[in-house]
Amino acid sequence: QPMIQLKNVTKIYGNGTVGLKNINLNINKGEFVVVVGLSGAGKSTLLRSINRLQDITEGDTIIDGKSITNAKGKNLRMIRRDIGMIFQSFNLVKRSSVLRNVLTGRVSYYPTWKTTFNLFTKEDKQKAYEALQRVGLADKVYTRADQLSGGQQQRVAIARVLTQNPKIILADEPTASLDPQTSRRVMRDLKMLNEEYGMTVLANLHSVDLAKEFGDRVIGVRAGEIVYDGKMSETSDAV
Ligand code: ADP
Ligand code: ADP
Repeated sequence: QPMIQLKNVTKIYGNGTVGLKNINLNINKGEFVVVVGLSGAGKSTLLRSINRLQDITEGDTIIDGKSITNAKGKNLRMIRRDIGMIFQSFNLVKRSSVLRNVLTGRVSYYPTWKTTFNLFTKEDKQKAYEALQRVGLADKVYTRADQLSGGQQQRVAIARVLTQNPKIILADEPTASLDPQTSRRVMRDLKMLNEEYGMTVLANLHSVDLAKEFGDRVIGVRAGEIVYDGKMSETSDAV
């Protein structure tokens, strides 16, 4: 069964804007998929329809065999636990240490008192430390998040998602605020999660160059529709 399945998914916003138009899409376990398209094409709407950051208007989104479309309460939380998010703006707690930021990935489904009162276990800390080693930031454990470069902050976010250990990672323009070289480093770390931990990755990218280099499968979106799905070659200008 597909890891991510969209069946006839349509999203129409309250003001009548069509975000997605009857999308059918299957993504299998272990795929590394890049979504490209111009601003306004529907890339973010597609991502938000997968983890249900917003409701879809029609159709069904199925995550590892379970429909998220109308899931509620505990069922919804269980499905979302399998989905890690990486954002353009990193979404770190700026004044907290790198270690604490990574720990919150591991404990984000625990009650808040656990994070508030510092009740991280030794094992939590060990996992966080290992994740930081994997992205090459073991020497920044006690540094405040806002003292890192943009690329380093995004790699902290990647370490955080690694400790969450999801089946799926959704990355919404993860490199949009980074220079080309730093962007490639971030993409390599995402690729590492895909190759070494078998996580299924879906990343929205603005840069066609990065899509060509990293997307095993590239999905082109235009006006809410999929206009390309395959390996991106030098000649494909469908998007
Ligand atoms: P829905 O009905 O799906 O909840 P709405 O159309 O009511 O969505 O809009 C939700 C929010 O997004 C509103 O705060 C709205 O101002 C904002 N918004 C409206 N148009 C856009 C747009 N083109 N891009 C991003 N956000 C928008
Ligand atoms: P992309 O991520 O490719 O830039 P989006 O998915 O953000 O594209 O947007 C797709 C379309 O939906 C655009 O026309 C955008 O203006 C519109 N849109 C996005 N969010 C909202 C919203 N909350 N309310 C109304 N329209 C929206």
